[in-house]
Amino acid sequence: MAIATINPASGETLKTFEPLTDRELLTKIELADRAWRDYRFSSFAQRAQWMQNAANVLEKNKEHYGTIMTQEMGKTLKSAIAEAEKCASVCRYYAENAAQFLADVSTPSDTPHSFVRYQPLGAILAVMPWNFPFWQVFRFAAPALMAGNVGLLKHASNVPQCALLIEEIFRDAGFPEGVFQTLLVGANKVAQIIADPRVKAAALTGSEPAGESLASNAGKQLKKTVLELGGSDPFIVMPSADLDAAVAAGVTGRLLNNGQSCIAAKRFILHKDIADNFISRFVDKFQALKIGDPMLPDTDIGPLATSQILEELDQQVQACLKTGAKLLIGGHRLSDSKGNFYLPTILTDIPPGSPAYQEEFFGPVALVFRVNNIDEAIELANGTSFGLGASAWTTITEERDRFTTELEAGAVFINGMVKSDPRLPFGGIKRSGYGRELSIQGIHEFVNIKTVWIK
Ligand code: NAP
Repeated sequence: MAIATINPASGETLKTFEPLTDRELLTKIELADRAWRDYRFSSFAQRAQWMQNAANVLEKNKEHYGTIMTQEMGKTLKSAIAEAEKCASVCRYYAENAAQFLADVSTPSDTPHSFVRYQPLGAILAVMPWNFPFWQVFRFAAPALMAGNVGLLKHASNVPQCALLIEEIFRDAGFPEGVFQTLLVGANKVAQIIADPRVKAAALTGSEPAGESLASNAGKQLKKTVLELGGSDPFIVMPSADLDAAVAAGVTGRLLNNGQSCIAAKRFILHKDIADNFISRFVDKFQALKIGDPMLPDTDIGPLATSQILEELDQQVQACLKTGAKLLIGGHRLSDSKGNFYLPTILTDIPPGSPAYQEEFFGPVALVFRVNNIDEAIELANGTSFGLGASAWTTITEERDRFTTELEAGAVFINGMVKSDPRLPFGGIKRSGYGRELSIQGIHEFVNIKTVWIK
C-alpha cells in the first residue's frame, strides 16, 4: 500500500510520502538502540515528567491532531478530538502509576533476601492500525516508555501524518532523541525489522493475517509479541434488561468510529421475548443518524477509512443476503458521493452457514440473531473463532454470573458497552490475539521479570 493521506470523505490524495530506504531504516534502529542504553537508567520521576508533558502537548493541540486524524481516516472530528484527550489520559495514568507498578516485589524464598525486579527490554516495534490512529499508539507507547523501553512505530500506511505527529509529540515533550521514532515503511519491511537483533519484541494491533505474519517472523527470532486482533463481539439482550439503555448502547457500540472498532458490538443476540421491541427501536435510531462530512459537528457517521474496506464490507453484506438474510435498513454505499460512505445497515433472519456467523464486519453493519434462552445465547456468542469483548444485558444475578463465567472473551461488560479504559486490562483470547494492554498487566508485557536471590 502506498504511504499516503487520501481523504476518505472525498477520495482526494492530499499527501504522499516516500518510504524509508534500507539505509535510513537501519540508521533509525541504530539510534533507538543507542538511545535505550542511556534511557533505561533514567528515573521514573524524569520519565513521568516527560510523559506529563506529552499529555499537555496532546491537550493543547487536540483540535489540530483531530483534524489530521479526520482527514486521514474519516472519523468524525468530535470523536477525533476526544481521542486526543483520551491519549493524554493514558499518558497521565502511566506517569502517575508506573513507578508503583514496576517497584521491586519482595518474594520470600530459601534466602533472607529475594525479590523480583522489572527491567526494560530495549527497542520495541509497534505495528499499528489506522482505526484509532492516536489511541492505539499511545496505549502502547505510554507504558512501554514509562517502563524504560524505546519505541519504533510502523503505523498503517494510510495515516502517515498521524504517525509523524506522534513522534513529534514525544520529541516536544522532552523525551531524548531516539526514544520514540516513526518508521515510514510498508508492511513488507516488518519481518526485516523484527529480525534485527537490536529490536527486542513487538506489539501488533490489526488483522489476523498481519498478526499471524508478525508472530511467525518473531517466533523464528524467539522474540515476544503481543497481538490485539479482530473481533466479532456479541451483544446479548435478555428480557429483564433496561431496553432503552440497551438500544442506546447498542447503537453507539455498533456505530462508534463509523463502525470500525475491534470491540464494536457486531452480533446482536436477542432473547425472543424482547427481540421485536429491540429491533424496531434499533431501526428507528439507525434511521435518525446523519451520515456525511466528518468535519461537521452534527455528523454522526463519516466515511469508511479506505475504498477497499468499503468494497470488502459490501461484499460481506451481499454474501449474507444471498444466503437468505433479511435487510432492514441500508445495505449499500451512498450513491451520490466520491467518499467511502456506507449506509448504516441492519441484517436479521441470518441463516446458519452465512458468513455473519464467523466473520468480522468492520463497518456500520449490525447482525441480529434471535435466541430462545440463555443457553442458546451463550452458545451462539461463543461460536466464533474470536474472543475479544462481550456485552450482556440482564438484571438477573444468575444470568449475570453465567455470562461473566461462560462467555469466551477478554472482557465481559454487563449492562454496558465494551470500552477501553487505561485502568482495565485490554486484549483478547482465541484468534483475537494474546497478551494485554493498559492497566498494570499492560506495563508488565515488555519487561524482564528478573528474579534476584541474595545470600
Ligand atoms: P491490518 O491490515 O492488519 O493493518 C494493521 C497494521 O499491520 C498496519 O500497520 C499494516 O501495515 C500492518 N500489516 C499489514 N499486513 C502485515 C503483515 N503481513 N505483516 C506485518 N504487518 C502487516 O489491519 P487493518 O485492516 O488496517 O485494521 C483492522 C483490523 O484491526 C480489524 O481486524 C480490527 O478488528 C483490528 N483491530 C484490533 C484491535 C484490538 O485492539 N484488538 C484494535 C483495532 C483494530 P500497512 O498499513 O502498511 O498495510
